[in-house]
Amino acid sequence: MRKKLCWIHNLALDNLASMAYSLGMKTLPALLLLGFGCYLYRHNEIPKEISTPVESLILSTTESSQQSSNPMMPLKSELLLNPISLSNKCKYVSIVEWRETPGEDNTKLSDNGIEYIDKLCNLAVDMFPQFIKANNVHVTKSLNGYSHKLSLMPGSIKDHGTDYRNLNDLSFRFKNKKAPVKYIWGYTLEDEKISFIHNCVLSDPQFFKDIMIHEIFHSISMYSGSYRTWNNEEQMAEKFVKYVMERS
Ligand SMILES: [Zn+2]
Repeated sequence: MRKKLCWIHNLALDNLASMAYSLGMKTLPALLLLGFGCYLYRHNEIPKEISTPVESLILSTTESSQQSSNPMMPLKSELLLNPISLSNKCKYVSIVEWRETPGEDNTKLSDNGIEYIDKLCNLAVDMFPQFIKANNVHVTKSLNGYSHKLSLMPGSIKDHGTDYRNLNDLSFRFKNKKAPVKYIWGYTLEDEKISFIHNCVLSDPQFFKDIMIHEIFHSISMYSGSYRTWNNEEQMAEKFVKYVMERS
């Protein structure tokens, strides 16, 4: 019986993240307990340490499941202790996660970085009404209560972007992405009202401006309902970036 259970467990361990995700929290503790038992059964000794990749997968999967069923959402350990609120037209927008790229000081959370994000958010919200008017789209919902969350993290493919839980971690955190892109520089979720953005705020401000305006466009478009009115949201986002770039 023990052997059979362990065989089932080993099978599950091959794809623990998705198993746990689909089975839900109730099954996960039992799976982990069984896994520990199986480890002892196979090795007949107390393990000094469990191998790091599996350990971090297990711990983080548990943490993720406790908070949200969507692995894209920040884990408790990834959230800023105090979210940073922006100003004026973006006063209900807050930065909830900001993780730097190891060894790159200019990707760290900083006042200059926050100031730049604030400026870009206000620029986008400010220019959105004139943009949709120019495109003959009628939006009834006011942007006064516009709220959103921002998550910044390493994204560069060559520099930790593909590491576990970073922007191009397509094996776990962003494995369910629907956008047909090879790499992620920004990603916005409508229901959770959050955008995940590459942390190049000050290391590549022009590129960051492009990404930020693009993602803020998606979020305002979703918030205002204009998302439902045009045929190609992605094309409109690109058009908006161009519109803002030419006027700022
Ligand atoms: Zn887009």
